[in-house]
Amino acid sequence: MSDRLPLIAGNWKMNLDHLQSIAFVQKLAWTLKDARHDFSTVEVAVFPPFTDLRSVQTLIAADKLELRHGAQDLSAHDSGAYTGEVSGAFLAALDCRYVIVGHSERRTLHGETDEVVASKVAAALRFGLVPIVCVGETADDLETHGPSAVPVAQLRAALEDVAPGSALVVAYEPVWAIGSGQAATPDQAQQVAAALRAVLAERDGAWAAATRILYGGSVKAANIAGFMREPDVDGALVGGASIVVDEFASIVRYQKHVGV
Ligand code: PEP
Repeated sequence: MSDRLPLIAGNWKMNLDHLQSIAFVQKLAWTLKDARHDFSTVEVAVFPPFTDLRSVQTLIAADKLELRHGAQDLSAHDSGAYTGEVSGAFLAALDCRYVIVGHSERRTLHGETDEVVASKVAAALRFGLVPIVCVGETADDLETHGPSAVPVAQLRAALEDVAPGSALVVAYEPVWAIGSGQAATPDQAQQVAAALRAVLAERDGAWAAATRILYGGSVKAANIAGFMREPDVDGALVGGASIVVDEFASIVRYQKHVGV
């Protein structure tokens, strides 16, 4: 077993308004408290829309919750005339620990290229945020290139200018598995996670050993345990199931199902 701290991250996407966010975080905290969840064995992070970050930050601080929070995206720029963008500086000031970068919805719906993703990873690191770098192949990529080629190329591009040893998380999210109800098998996730770890190892062995690699794509309480048994999978990036409190809490408590 590795000594990497497992991370269960909930990407709310454009869901939950201000009041729903507060209610969700309170209920999640109570549910995990009732279940005596030990945050030192599984870290839990929520990723609300930008407009909810302030209230989630305040609630976490006021109630001394052990939950982490982060943003779903950030600007590649630090400040200036970039209407509608949100700087990493602002996210750091809201105590965000993490920021998701290169989610497939950003790549496909907002035209984010590998270069843009790389510049956002650099921006996150400039402000002491831990980027969760998302990579993953489409169904066509899978058929044409096999499972690892595209995620490996995306990770290499995202990290080209990143100093080895930088604190980051990698999320392997096959595009065909996101929101489809058709998750990868634990075996498939392991195969790609190992290939991604090898990309880090080419640069620095200790970095590769310390960096967490998550699986994402139709994760739910019923299938999380299988992924968490894999040696190179260190957690999950959860979309749809992350806004259903009981389901998300069950995913966090996967150890119950794995029997560790
Ligand atoms: C995601 O969007 O990152 C994701 C993994 O979504 P879902 O869990 O709904 O497949």
